[in-house]
Amino acid sequence: MSRISHRIGGIAPSATLAVDATAKAMRAAGRDVIGFGAGEPDFPTPDHIVAAAEKACREPRMHRYSPAAGLPELKQAIAEKTARDSGVIVSPSQVLVTNGGKQAVYAAFATLLDPGDEVLLPAPYWTTYPESIRLAGGVPVDVVTGPEAGYRVTVEQLEAARTPRTKVLLFNSPSNPTGAVHTPEEVRAIGRWAEQAGIWVISDEIYEHLVYGETRFASVLAEVPELAERCIIVNGVAKTYAMTGWRVGWLVGPADAVAAATNLQSHATSNVSNVAQAAALAAVAGPLDAVATMRTAFDRRRQTMHRLLSQTPGIRCPLPDGAFYCYPSVRDVLGRTLRGRIPTTSADLCQLILEEAGVAIVPGEAFGTPGFARLSYALSDDDLVKGVSRLSALLAEAA
Ligand code: PLP
Repeated sequence: MSRISHRIGGIAPSATLAVDATAKAMRAAGRDVIGFGAGEPDFPTPDHIVAAAEKACREPRMHRYSPAAGLPELKQAIAEKTARDSGVIVSPSQVLVTNGGKQAVYAAFATLLDPGDEVLLPAPYWTTYPESIRLAGGVPVDVVTGPEAGYRVTVEQLEAARTPRTKVLLFNSPSNPTGAVHTPEEVRAIGRWAEQAGIWVISDEIYEHLVYGETRFASVLAEVPELAERCIIVNGVAKTYAMTGWRVGWLVGPADAVAAATNLQSHATSNVSNVAQAAALAAVAGPLDAVATMRTAFDRRRQTMHRLLSQTPGIRCPLPDGAFYCYPSVRDVLGRTLRGRIPTTSADLCQLILEEAGVAIVPGEAFGTPGFARLSYALSDDDLVKGVSRLSALLAEAA
């Protein structure tokens, strides 16, 4: 009998959090490290949201347990926001408020999957998905996309990966880690395919407001309303309102799935912190001007990073349309000599870059596609230029 269960013992630590932690530790030890690892906006939470939390602290009802599924007023606001942003009409009873979008992802898999059920997982994928699927007893089936296709999965690829055990498609557009955004037509085609194949879609829409240029976000359920009985939308306040530390997310879905997920949550965590829910209510029911400001800054940094990376020897990177990440191929650098070492994997290369250039980036191994790396542009313009320039100068030495 093993001391730690096989189920939990087999979970890999989050590579993105690990890179961020290493960069912070090196900085604490006096090294000048620029971190491109973090997946969080570098802006403060807007004042009116913080003020709502302060006020909630003084309300006695907020000091007590509240309904496991979420404060009724927040569920109402999430239903209204879902109509506004996703174009999908749901009732508050179809909403479950969770401890961040991350918990909503796990709750959705745990609610739908029986042991051995397969989940189609377009790769590169957010590092949490496969662990969350396995934890819920499911089997992740990678469907790999590349930069030449803009990292956008196609119906043909999904159909080729489908088996009689396929129960769910995980769909994340805009994508972490690639920044890819599917067009409304592509989203509609994928939604129709899932509907006809009888497959559930878990649609992670956490980056919905971070799209640039002419790009438009499309929610799969708005494009294919016939999916209503087999679609769960995952979302949260972290990225849109610079609220990563507040830990409020949610899922929206058909009544039976939401009721089952609520039962799970009632035993696992009970309600999300009431103070954080009050802050989330101010966020969701309030204006979108803070995200507009962030979007302008992210768009500028996106273009700067893409331009600098495109000038870097050995790096190839499509221009991302959404989220706040670039996902270049680093394959052309592998197997070459750099500072007396020969990195053969993207993990080796990222370690070398961290040690030699003091620049932290996350290797593609964390996202299911070795040979690539993820750089977040959620950092100041100055640090961005300094960090990518240091990276470029180092890679220029590869022989
Ligand atoms: N989904 C994606 C694609 C993400 O990148 C993240 C965070 O990095 C989340 C969900 C979860 O965010 P949170 O748990 O902070 O709400």
